Amino acid sequence: MALVIFLIYRLLGSKHSTRKTGKLSAKLETEKLKSDIVLNSIEDGVVVVDANQLIQVFNPAATLLTGWPANEAIGLDYHSVIKLVDPGGKAYTEADHPFEQAIRTNKNVRDNTAELVSKDKNNLAVNISASPLLNENKQPSGVVCIFQDVSKQRREEQRRAEFISTASHEMRTPVAAIEGYLALAMNSKVSQIDDKAKSFLIKAHASTQHLGELFQDLLTSAKAEDGRLINHPAVIEMGKYVEQLTEDLRFAAQKKGLSVEFIMGTPSEAARRPDYTKAIQPLYYAKVDPNRIREVITNLFDNAVKYTQTGKITLGVTGDEEVVQLSVRDTGNGIPAEDIPHLFQKFYRVDNSATRTIGGTGLGLYICRKIVELYKGRIWVESQPGQGSSFYINLPRLSSDEAQRVQNEVVPTVQQPSNDPSAISSNH
Ligand code: ADP
Repeated sequence: MALVIFLIYRLLGSKHSTRKTGKLSAKLETEKLKSDIVLNSIEDGVVVVDANQLIQVFNPAATLLTGWPANEAIGLDYHSVIKLVDPGGKAYTEADHPFEQAIRTNKNVRDNTAELVSKDKNNLAVNISASPLLNENKQPSGVVCIFQDVSKQRREEQRRAEFISTASHEMRTPVAAIEGYLALAMNSKVSQIDDKAKSFLIKAHASTQHLGELFQDLLTSAKAEDGRLINHPAVIEMGKYVEQLTEDLRFAAQKKGLSVEFIMGTPSEAARRPDYTKAIQPLYYAKVDPNRIREVITNLFDNAVKYTQTGKITLGVTGDEEVVQLSVRDTGNGIPAEDIPHLFQKFYRVDNSATRTIGGTGLGLYICRKIVELYKGRIWVESQPGQGSSFYINLPRLSSDEAQRVQNEVVPTVQQPSNDPSAISSNH
């Protein structure tokens, strides 16, 4: 990507400079030629858009991917050429489009779920990387975008996900039956068994429950991979939402003797101003499916309870103009540095004496990552062994105006429960 941006600068720079005469001009011509050769031969589509949203560069791979000849595409508004849809076929809104996001945030934007709609209306799975082009004053003056055809990989992923989802769905039924019969066998009102047999059955029951959870997690992760996860995004005020969720989750932690706290703002802000939580509540709007986000936070919270013996679990909401940041912090075992880069991969579990005795599938954090990525967010952890762990989620933040506008755009089937404290109200 860096190389492509470098070439684009040279290409655009040389366009303006070719009027100069003499040696310099010849040198620039040679540079332009070299940049042209690279852009014309790379396999990835490269599209450059200027500050007026007009296409300036459109390499041959971009033509192959979109079906638009360069001489037709160049000079057109990018909206008529680069049409994107999500895996469900729903067209990207202006705010979702990586070109728009790169300009608005002045940051690199990646999108690994989009499909590009070609000129003759065929959809092609692509990975997109969009970077702002900056002028001398470091202001965005356009966007360079790389499109990589990943249709083959996505088809294979889909086949794999379909197999896993069918297999886990089919296997859940007999496992549920075994679990039910084991429960009956352990019930003294139904069956008479001696203590030794009962202790075996308790173990068998726990393992069957674990197997049931594993199939459920497998099914969820397969759905997340092939875009079948039920997802009805709505505008949610995350401060109220997470505060309410903390109340719902509190009991599970308190049963283990752990205290639970919810804070608005960073921990230092909350410590400096104990009234911060109540007095000044910035509104942190995000467009997410509340059920999916509940799943993510509950997963992080359950882990915090599982891997913390004493102390506190703190849920928090903070952010800046661009992002809403959710956090789940604990005072538990912590995570060794070498495990952190792998934690959000499928089936990854830290291998130590603590985790060996604590049950788990290694799929929870993977599912969390897939859900967060669905909303173009990011999830990560900061932790040290013995020092507790802090899991963070950044979601794109909507201003109150954007929240209001998006809310009005939302399809009628997506409804907020009328008593939902996080539902957007018109007086903000
Ligand atoms: P699991 O079902 O094993 O908990 P997850 O994907 O949720 O699977 O977590 C992966 C691994 O990350 C866990 O096995 C554990 O080793 C580690 N982990 C997750 N959360 C925490 C935490 N809050 N504190 C310490 N370790 C954690």
